[in-house]
Amino acid sequence: MTPADDLAARFGQALDTRPETLRDAAQDFGRLVRATPRAVLRPRSAARIRELLEFAGPRHIPVGVRAGGHALYGQSQAADGIVVDLRAMNRVGPVTEDQVTVQAGASWREVLAATLLYGRTPPVLTDYLGAGVGGVLSAGGLGGATHRHGLVADQVLELEVVTGAGEHRVCSPGRDPALFHAVLAGLGQCAVIVEATLRLVPAPERVRRYCLFHDDLPRYLADQRRLAEEGRFAHLEGQARPVGDRGLQYMIEAVAPYDGPCPPDDGRLLAGLAHDPATVESADLGYAEFAHRVDADEEILRATGEWLHPHPWLNLLLPDETAEPVVRSVLADPAFADLRSTGLVLLYPLLSGRLRAPLFRRPPGHVLWLFALLRTAPPGSPATAARMVAANRAAHDLARAAGAVAYPVNALPLSAADWREHHGTGWQSFAEAKRRHDPHLVLGRGHGLRL
Ligand SMILES: Cc1cc2nc3c(=O)[nH]c(=O)nc-3n(C[C@H](O)[C@H](O)[C@H](O)COP(=O)(O)OP(=O)(O)OC[C@H]3O[C@@H](n4cnc5c(N)ncnc54)[C@H](O)[C@@H]3O)c2cc1C
Repeated sequence: MTPADDLAARFGQALDTRPETLRDAAQDFGRLVRATPRAVLRPRSAARIRELLEFAGPRHIPVGVRAGGHALYGQSQAADGIVVDLRAMNRVGPVTEDQVTVQAGASWREVLAATLLYGRTPPVLTDYLGAGVGGVLSAGGLGGATHRHGLVADQVLELEVVTGAGEHRVCSPGRDPALFHAVLAGLGQCAVIVEATLRLVPAPERVRRYCLFHDDLPRYLADQRRLAEEGRFAHLEGQARPVGDRGLQYMIEAVAPYDGPCPPDDGRLLAGLAHDPATVESADLGYAEFAHRVDADEEILRATGEWLHPHPWLNLLLPDETAEPVVRSVLADPAFADLRSTGLVLLYPLLSGRLRAPLFRRPPGHVLWLFALLRTAPPGSPATAARMVAANRAAHDLARAAGAVAYPVNALPLSAADWREHHGTGWQSFAEAKRRHDPHLVLGRGHGLRL
């Protein structure tokens, strides 16, 4: 029997080798790189995943794991390997007052829909709810509540996983903590997350969302820093918005929750800030409507077709000391000039002390900044897309020289040496965890870590 026959005999109907399936698994949201697997497996149980890893490991067959499919640069692909498509493992519940158990193939949209039925929400959500539980927990997960509560991954109470060695394990901060901490923000290197138990908090009925505009970068950064440290708002994000030929405007997006008929006190919430008071925008929204705010953008981008265009995105974490010059240099770079007419630049503060997952790399210092350059490349022009990825690399190198680290959900080629530098003093223990839990090095090769 050839390995392919053996695979088919072992996994039968659960295995899909149709050309259209392989074509789909060969790409991701980034639409920049392609790697065709030999098969796609759609498991419905942890036992099936364990069986696959027991099979693939000794045969050195790469295994990619796909939850929501929103990787940017081939992270969940597996050249000539097997892609595990977890979408059928999307059970959410039971929901209790303070926790919910979810399968890793569920989207955050599905998680929130189930918890809101009980008036509960995860304390931190990413902006976009279409990503998968498995993918966000393996990256870390940043959102507007991160300055208060940490990463999405920091809200995990317990994990059920299958390691690369084919061991089916349950881990938590109190039970096998080394494995728990090797999986959260661990880029799928040691284990496949099957199920996660997440902390929940009461969801507010409504929120008031303020947009505060600044023309001056240092004053914007000072206001953002102050708001993050004071924890004045439940949700805090912001954007840099190129205006005209050379100018930049900055927008704080600050959100206060409320229940019942009494809205928040605008005067108290906005006191002492340096924004232009004449241009303040505010709107009252239901909490669910606010949490789903990116859905409308997705709908528009799907209608224009841009949702399916290449996405050479770059997310960097900047240290406070150098945030201003790095933002200025990158946004003045002609290679990012297209951001004047399209795309989005996120720039908002995080507090290092709130980010707990040890594998989540961040620059030194108490305050750091998410600087995200979210662009779309024209379809059918690989040369343009390649130029944009090269610009990402140049911006990454410039920022890294100023103490930044990547938030690794990027269209950014990184060498083994780059990854080693990225993990710094944590590299050795990460490599040891990889060898212990994925001894045949079959998991997560699409990230290119070479641990
Ligand atoms: C439109 C959009 C908006 C986004 N907004 C945010 C945001 O606000 N905040 C933020 O932090 N990120 C954001 N991201 C990035 C996103 O969180 C990551 O790309 C995430 O990894 C996507 O998860 P996925 O399951 O959809 O992707 P997939 O492509 O399915 O998986 C991505 C990676 O996760 C790993 N993985 C997936 N499932 C598992 C599992 N069960 N066990 C172990 N590893 C697994 C895979 O190895 C793969 O490398 C956004 C991405 C997009 C496309």
